[in-house]
Amino acid sequence: MNIAVIGTGHVGLVSCVALARMGHEVVGFDVDQEKVSLLQRGVTPFHEPDLDSALHGELDGGRLRFTASASDALARASVVFICVGTPMGEDGEADLHAMEQAASQIARDANDGVIVVEKSTVPAGTAERVRTAISLEAPNLDFDVASNPEFLREGHALHDALFPDRIVVGVSSEVAASILRRVYEPITSNGALLIETDVRTAELAKHASNAFLAMKISYANALARLSERLGADVRDVIEVLGADPRIGPAFLGAGLGYGGYCLPKDVLGLERLSARVGYDFGLLREVDRVNREAMEATVEKIEDALWNLQGKRICILGLAFKAGTDDARLSPAVELARRLRDLGASVVAYDPMASANAQHEVPELDIAPDPYVAAIGAHCVVIATEWAEFRHLDLKALREAVATPILVDARNVLREDQGWAAGFAYYSMGRRPLQRHPGASDLFVLPEPAPLDAVADAAG
Ligand code: NAD
Repeated sequence: MNIAVIGTGHVGLVSCVALARMGHEVVGFDVDQEKVSLLQRGVTPFHEPDLDSALHGELDGGRLRFTASASDALARASVVFICVGTPMGEDGEADLHAMEQAASQIARDANDGVIVVEKSTVPAGTAERVRTAISLEAPNLDFDVASNPEFLREGHALHDALFPDRIVVGVSSEVAASILRRVYEPITSNGALLIETDVRTAELAKHASNAFLAMKISYANALARLSERLGADVRDVIEVLGADPRIGPAFLGAGLGYGGYCLPKDVLGLERLSARVGYDFGLLREVDRVNREAMEATVEKIEDALWNLQGKRICILGLAFKAGTDDARLSPAVELARRLRDLGASVVAYDPMASANAQHEVPELDIAPDPYVAAIGAHCVVIATEWAEFRHLDLKALREAVATPILVDARNVLREDQGWAAGFAYYSMGRRPLQRHPGASDLFVLPEPAPLDAVADAAG
């Protein structure tokens, strides 16, 4: 099948490679000429496991090519996937300018019979907008619009695209349904689940999935705030919750909160969409509030540990929005660096992959080549992304590098006794306040948990 993909970013490029791997003839089109020339040379513009070799394989096999010309991409396409960005607009709603541009490109250059497929995450109702925009510009074009939202996870993107836990197809005609069944037949024949529904339901299902994941993270963070006040240990609370198969352990990490390109915008986008159609989805506002509170709680913890931030040097370990990616878009770690700088601290950071992208977000950020160089002279070390390598830090070497032994584990990647054993005053998220111990001076000892009679009094 001849397929065009509009937008060759994290979703579009992976889709190009996966669709070519399924045996289709694929042309990827992007307005970013630099990205296109990299891709034409077989260079992936971002880190994603196994994507480089898969891209080479498909380019060499002749099933995949890239172009910066919409007419070239659309000339032979019978299916067009729209994979452009849909960032958060200033009012919290999705900014759909790129979707509109894509519709216009299709109106100008697509052939009769084309099936236009939204893969970008969009508010329910967008397909109708796309349909109207194309019809107004190309009244004689015979086309249909379908929704096929993407559920891949950065850091596992190619695997997820080739072995998805579900493929969602929203259609309004049997023709579109049968074409999309054919597109995915190479993987559905191997057992991938394909759920067919109407277009609006498919659009809503994607937003609903992301908002639910964000809700789990905020639930864990709310429990972290409560555990700190009660003297409980949120990690154990979460282990108990996660062991219940009805709940599951994923997306229940307490820490700095969720970030990245998708969850923040999709939570707010769904809340705004709901408000627009007359439903007050206050739960989602609360999810967002608790997420912002997680950031505040971390900043307060660092301030509390350091007393004053002015003139202090802080080492941040981790800048990616999550482990396994070089993506720093809306990364809580980057936001933390920004906040600490604004409060007067100097920040030196290390990340195994995302430093360049983080520096793009905060150009003044000092970057170190490894955690131990980043820690030299620091008054506080903060673990801000849950990279596996941080579980195996040489804490003794880190202790020797710092000026003051304070370690704030904002992702709960270490165990309390590891920090203490290396001589750090160790702060974590949602755990019992530190008890007095031989390794730390009084300065680092946090208050005892509230006595239970006070808790009972408060409960009235
Ligand atoms: P991205 O920013 O990495 O890529 C978007 C690409 O679209 C860019 O290369 C940009 O140059 C290109 N583009 C913009 N306008 C264009 C136009 N008119 N014509 C051609 N190209 C154009 O974004 P992304 O992370 O790939 O996300 C794309 C969509 O997929 C978003 O709606 C996002 O919410 C959704 N999504 C993302 C992920 C993820 O993990 N990143 C997962 C699932 C769904």
